[in-house]
Amino acid sequence: MNAELKNEKKVIPITPVPTEPEAQLVSLYAAHEKIYPRSVKGVFSNWRWIMVWVTQIIFYGLPWVEWGQRQAVLFDLGVRRFYIFGLVLYPQDFIYLTGLLIIAALSLFLFTAVAGRLWCGYACPQTVYTEIFLWVEKFVEGDRSARIRRDEGPMTAEKLGRKTAKHLIWVLIGVWTGFTFVGYFTPMQAMMSQLANLDFGPWETFWVLFYGFATYGNAGFMREQVCKHMCPYARFQSAMFDKDTLIVTYDAERGEPRGARSKKADPTKLNLGACVDCSLCVQVCPTGIDIRKGLQYECIGCGACADVCDTVMDKVGYPRGLVKYSTENAMLNKWTQKQTLRHVFRPRILVYTGILLTIVLAIMVSLFTRTPFKVDVVRDRGVMARVVEAGKTENVYRLQVMNATESGQRYRLSVEGLPGLVLTSEETVSVPSTEARTVPVRVQLPFEGAKPGSHEIHFKIESLDSPGVLLEKSTFLVPE
Ligand code: SF4
Ligand code: SF4
Repeated sequence: MNAELKNEKKVIPITPVPTEPEAQLVSLYAAHEKIYPRSVKGVFSNWRWIMVWVTQIIFYGLPWVEWGQRQAVLFDLGVRRFYIFGLVLYPQDFIYLTGLLIIAALSLFLFTAVAGRLWCGYACPQTVYTEIFLWVEKFVEGDRSARIRRDEGPMTAEKLGRKTAKHLIWVLIGVWTGFTFVGYFTPMQAMMSQLANLDFGPWETFWVLFYGFATYGNAGFMREQVCKHMCPYARFQSAMFDKDTLIVTYDAERGEPRGARSKKADPTKLNLGACVDCSLCVQVCPTGIDIRKGLQYECIGCGACADVCDTVMDKVGYPRGLVKYSTENAMLNKWTQKQTLRHVFRPRILVYTGILLTIVLAIMVSLFTRTPFKVDVVRDRGVMARVVEAGKTENVYRLQVMNATESGQRYRLSVEGLPGLVLTSEETVSVPSTEARTVPVRVQLPFEGAKPGSHEIHFKIESLDSPGVLLEKSTFLVPE
């Protein structure tokens, strides 16, 4: 027994030594997967194409429209004059630009509150140009599956030819878009003759290429990346939604459990919902998302998934509307279309509409009743108040008179505000159509007319050829 004990080895307990966990590299970078949107036909796709035509006819056509002797819409930055048909605006009319921006912002709030990202899905330039570029891509390279096959296949003469043709058309559209854009700032006729003589100025060249490149890059390559990562609107849009906002929605209650089945099969016997899991809604999505996963910030509300799902429902003989524009409340309460629409036009929408209409009306009234000329009064800093002959004090000013009409105008100048105040320079000023003229103006006051100091006076400018009077405030200095 003792020998046994002697032979028994002493067992020393080993405490496991903690080892460093194996370092694992977790990449936060996800490679971009190219999206091949499938073409789609349907109500919402038709609306998008209507918007493409309307916006592009206006954009490409407007710089070619003439108004009298000039371009109808021209933002002439060189002479700081903006022509919009019969309107001639000066930088002093900046208030109208502010009004326009307020109208744009309010319209965005209104449309978003009514139907989510309506602007994004139908009228945003990114959507419109992507639609045009996708159409070209489909025309040259075929629809989704043909494009995927070609991209995965080896380079062949046919592939090279089609890719070259596509890029050539894209570049042409981009450059023409850039050319049109510059045509809003430089008269189109002048640009055409510069083009014919290959005599483009450096700024025009830069902006044509810059805008053209931006169109080519954004609509040809960046596409959904712009909406997902660059557009700030995508980030704050959800703040403008509420439970009565129309958004593209998948009716999960009706669609689930999803699954493939034969056309003749009865889905209730198979315990299946209406979704046949064809994945077409994902294939047509320009941002590559699956609407069946619920509302996602990438969704631009284009309705392509609703269009394609309706065609699937038609084919399998189920009612349309598995994917549709609906509201959270309508889905919850199972409202009819009529009930849903009644709730869409809620007090918030009526308030937005009311404010919007009031601002539009105010701007219109102000635009059409404004005096058709402007005046800026600047004190001549080089000439301080001085004493002149016959016991009088004189101040010198510079008056800039801007004629905002399409014909030459004469204006009568006078001054008021202090007893005995008179204008001693030329009283009538002629200004050619849509031009501005700066005239030096001398104003004299008898010594007894006012105490030493600064006094408020007003210049009165009266149009002699058309109705309109302006009073411009200034100050008259009387030295000690
Ligand atoms: S298109 Fe309609 S039926 Fe097909 S997977 Fe999408 S939701 Fe389901
Ligand atoms: S989920 Fe539907 S509505 Fe949203 S972007 Fe994709 S296709 Fe358009």
